[in-house]
Amino acid sequence: MQTVTVLGATGSIGCNTLDVIGRHPEKYRLFAITGYGQLELLMEQAQQYAPRYVVVADEALYEKACELAQQYKVDAEVLCGSQALQDVASAPEVDAVMAAIVGAAGLLPTLAAVKAGKRVLLANKEALVMSGALFIDAANQSGAKILPIDSEHNAIFQCLPQDFVYGDLASSGIHKILLTGSGGPFRERDLSTFSSITIDEASTHPNWSMGRKITIDSATMMNKGLEFIEACWLFGAKAGDIEVVVHPQSIIHSMVQYIDGSVIAQMGNPDMRTPIAYGLAHPQRIDAGVSPLNFSDIVNFSFQTPCFTRYPNLKLAIDACKDGQCATTRLNAANEIAVEHFLDGRIQFNDIALVNEAVLNALPSVTVNSIQQILEQDSLARAKATDIIRGKFLC
Ligand code: NAD
Ligand code: MG
Repeated sequence: MQTVTVLGATGSIGCNTLDVIGRHPEKYRLFAITGYGQLELLMEQAQQYAPRYVVVADEALYEKACELAQQYKVDAEVLCGSQALQDVASAPEVDAVMAAIVGAAGLLPTLAAVKAGKRVLLANKEALVMSGALFIDAANQSGAKILPIDSEHNAIFQCLPQDFVYGDLASSGIHKILLTGSGGPFRERDLSTFSSITIDEASTHPNWSMGRKITIDSATMMNKGLEFIEACWLFGAKAGDIEVVVHPQSIIHSMVQYIDGSVIAQMGNPDMRTPIAYGLAHPQRIDAGVSPLNFSDIVNFSFQTPCFTRYPNLKLAIDACKDGQCATTRLNAANEIAVEHFLDGRIQFNDIALVNEAVLNALPSVTVNSIQQILEQDSLARAKATDIIRGKFLC
């Protein structure tokens, strides 16, 4: 029996995680679930899955959450705030933590789980993009096991040899990691019409159902850029070891190409319950509720090279990855602000990459060696992005 905390339980990954856990009550019990808004959903989840704690990230919602807990007859204790998120991620009773808060807000609770040596199911790619070496060092020190939940990284993890040594791709005979991505909803759209892309169009992914922010990141391919950085840290790869391949059908979730000419791919229907179940049960396999892939249903199975004119954010992220920690932290922060402004209807789709680039160009590079410095760079880049948007796009 594993005791699990689900950070970001009300989100897309969080709901899928609870769905898989609910299929195996004899294997998993919940210690805590957390959410930001959506208190009704959080209390419904508490009612159904009976965790010991329900954590509301926003302290201002504490009283309302307590009232709702009574109304929903929830037995769990209600906690609130940032420290409570870290506490339920690192409590001694917890075996595994699903890190599924979106964005930089997930950094501290995810790190708390890593430092406490938990089995960390990492969906919150932004945490790793922001803190890279510090995150990996903390896992090495505590003995935390990081299991990639992002479907691509989960696929790569499944395609690597069992004796793979972190950072040593050559000794495993690996030629390249092939990171696949669908190309999003605008893969074939006329480039001259990008400025008129609506929020609804950008919020509709052809293959995956996901949270709002990652859906926009998938449309700009910033998501693939963040995943490029994530893959470098997860496997100790260098930028030159990874190639992005556009695969519109999202059947192959990524591949590893070996020096003998073999390519090992992981496939399946696009359903996040597969990597979640793999992360929960590894090294075993459990039923995830995912329908089997039926090859006779696959009409097209195609691949392309991504075009940086269409996806400038992908290029920015690959360049930032080569540049180092300061650049990737700033890019992630700038992008969160730019996406937020796009979703609020204040800037255009094209402007997201322009804001990101302008932030990276406006700030001189510095060395970051601590979480404190990372948080400072995150704040600096957010402030700069906000200034740039006010000055350049909203005047
Ligand atoms: P989502 O927006 O659906 O859910 C986000 C969760 O985080 C919610 O529970 C929300 O309440 C919580 N949250 C939001 N802001 C918060 C804050 N300030 N403090 C604390 N909690 C906060 O997002 P999602 O699509 O489930 O994605 C979650 C993470 O998983 C992201 O990092 C994303 O990149 C990654 N991921 C998602 C998918 C997917 O299929 N959805 C796939 C791969 C990776
Ligand atoms: Mg992914």
